[in-house]
Amino acid sequence: MTDNNNIQLQQNQSTIDGTQEDRKNRPDISVVIPMYNEEKNIAPLFARLFPVLSSLEETWEVVCVNDGSGDSTLEVLLSNRAARPGLVVVDLARNFGQHAAVMAGFAHSRGKWVITMDADLQNPPEEIPNIIKSFRQGHDLVGTVRINRQDTAFRKTASRITNRIITRVSGIDLKDFGCMLRGYSREVVNGILQNPEYRTFIPALATFFAHNPVEIPVRHEDRAAGESKYSLLKLFSLQLDLMTGFSMWPLRILFFVGTGLAITGILLAVLLVVLRIVLGAGWAAEGVFTLFAALFFFIGGQFFALGLLGEYIGRIFQAVRKRPTFLVGKIYS
Ligand code: UDP
Ligand code: MG
Repeated sequence: MTDNNNIQLQQNQSTIDGTQEDRKNRPDISVVIPMYNEEKNIAPLFARLFPVLSSLEETWEVVCVNDGSGDSTLEVLLSNRAARPGLVVVDLARNFGQHAAVMAGFAHSRGKWVITMDADLQNPPEEIPNIIKSFRQGHDLVGTVRINRQDTAFRKTASRITNRIITRVSGIDLKDFGCMLRGYSREVVNGILQNPEYRTFIPALATFFAHNPVEIPVRHEDRAAGESKYSLLKLFSLQLDLMTGFSMWPLRILFFVGTGLAITGILLAVLLVVLRIVLGAGWAAEGVFTLFAALFFFIGGQFFALGLLGEYIGRIFQAVRKRPTFLVGKIYS
């Protein structure tokens, strides 16, 4: 390991463990909320979240990460600081995406237990005490299953497929990886933070560090204001992150499909030769189209394969550059 890496690790460690003084003042719970253009949701969110937290026995902090919003999210957050002690605002240098923003929140959270949630009130803050109950029972990762999920049929189907893939790959049988209202123990958070992967999917990564995970049902509501930040393209990119980040299966499937195509190709060639001999040259002229069809089929397969390989290579490239997952502009605490 190079000196540079050592220094970086030490720095990571000091943000994770904090100073002696810092450790004494640690809250029990950190609530981490990524925010991207959520100016209209902050007031209704805080109006429900802070009373819930105040009713707890535990001490707490709320770490809001402004993920390079183009609206007044940062201003609204900062204007809340005076009236809301315990609110920490982390302002990222630009938009890095939801999972990177959560990582930034993790890095600046100090709680023994960390709870993540969305800013749009799709995750009701009233469910937080249930997550804490699971922590008290000794669980170190509290997953959640959305009951009455308020999303489009397309999103639900996509999630179902995703969940099945992660379950297969990670071997940990959680039903719903998509809901961001989740709880992580400090040990799990530290484990996640030591994986500065350029692109990641936190609920899936967390399962690798948990010894005693549990899943509890939580309610799910409609987005309070604004639009979902996930376009079809972003969703697709997230699925690719998940697939390539946690599984080598696509590469293996590629191998099998490639082998299958090659065998089919050989059989088809033999068939064409036989037909040519049996039916004569007259048939062969019409057979041109059969050949074309076969050709396109194989070319298509090859492009698909190349694309998938490219996807992995692109990610390897990003990983070896060791770019930071997020860059903090300023911290207001
Ligand atoms: N978010 C973020 N950065 C982004 C996109 C989203 O911090 O680039 C936040 C967003 O503000 C919200 C959460 O991530 O708090 C979930 O986003 P959204 O509600 O758009 O996702 P959906 O509910 O449609 O999955
Ligand atoms: Mg949402």
